Amino acid sequence: DAKSAGSNCFRFFDPSMQAQVQHRAELEAGIRVGMEQGQFELWYQPQYDRQQQLLGLEALVRWRHPEKGLISPADFIPVAEETGLIVPLGDQLLEQACQQLVHWQQHSQLNGVPVAVNISARQIHTADFAERVCAVLDRTGASANTLELEVTESMLVKDVEQTIDKMRRLRLRGVRFSLDDFGTGYSSLIFLKQLPLDKLKIDQGFVRDLLSDSNDAAIVKTVVALGQSMDLTVLAEGVETREHCDALAAMGCYEYQGYYFSKPLPPAELEARLAEQVVESGTL
Ligand code: C2E
Ligand code: MG
Ligand code: MG
Ligand code: MG
Repeated sequence: DAKSAGSNCFRFFDPSMQAQVQHRAELEAGIRVGMEQGQFELWYQPQYDRQQQLLGLEALVRWRHPEKGLISPADFIPVAEETGLIVPLGDQLLEQACQQLVHWQQHSQLNGVPVAVNISARQIHTADFAERVCAVLDRTGASANTLELEVTESMLVKDVEQTIDKMRRLRLRGVRFSLDDFGTGYSSLIFLKQLPLDKLKIDQGFVRDLLSDSNDAAIVKTVVALGQSMDLTVLAEGVETREHCDALAAMGCYEYQGYYFSKPLPPAELEARLAEQVVESGTL
């Protein structure tokens, strides 16, 4: 039985492992149903400059589960990635974001504001990734110039040449690329130099303790310098306070995303908030 099984003996029937496998299988089935029933929605987090000018929006997925309520991406994206479901789910989300872009083209304050969509390594590694993105742009009529794709260093473990080629082709069409969570991966600077990027996003993990941790401050300064030397925009994530913002500006980082400005919001709430701000600032 399980108790007499020695520690160096593989226990075929590990209850905790079984529970994990079952949880995963349920999640996988749930994601499939959720995709069919339109349970995945995109919330949008605004990005600002020093003058509180709106620069862009990041689309962040939320799963509106009929029984469990709103589920955050951290609780299902990893399983979607492992199972490969991230490919059809990612396509669906990209299409939603492009539809939203087209809708906002008719909205005075959001017309032309770029939307950034997160792309998993598994998605970009599909052979026809660039063609599928182009097909979504064609189908929805969204302007490629307002679409930004967020990729991560984790996509650099394989097929680097092909990945760069896909990015190049999409950039020719006008799509822009940012490197998300920069600094948390393991990419070499050689790779980084080859990548056709427009923006580096400093991971929130380096921003959080920026004011008290000199290592984090040094990393942020290095990323800003790197961005400048490579002609890339640098945006800081996880900007939660005025002090974060000031310290980042002092280091030469002028684009911000974080709770200090706004949490991710459903489209209707975002529109309402922007309308309020216009009234406040007297632009109307
Ligand atoms: P990310 O792309 O790095 O997104 C930033 C995350 O930081 C978001 O969490 C956002 O809500 C959170 N955040 C923003 N400002 C602050 C702040 O000031 N303080 C703190 N503590 N957190 C802040 P979220 O929405 O839970 O997304 C988590 C991750 O899930 C994303 O990280 C991204 O890697 C992944 N993800 C989200 N949506 C998608 C998607 O549509 N496709 C794929 N493939 N991945 C997605
Ligand atoms: Mg992101
Ligand atoms: Mg990020
Ligand atoms: Mg992140």
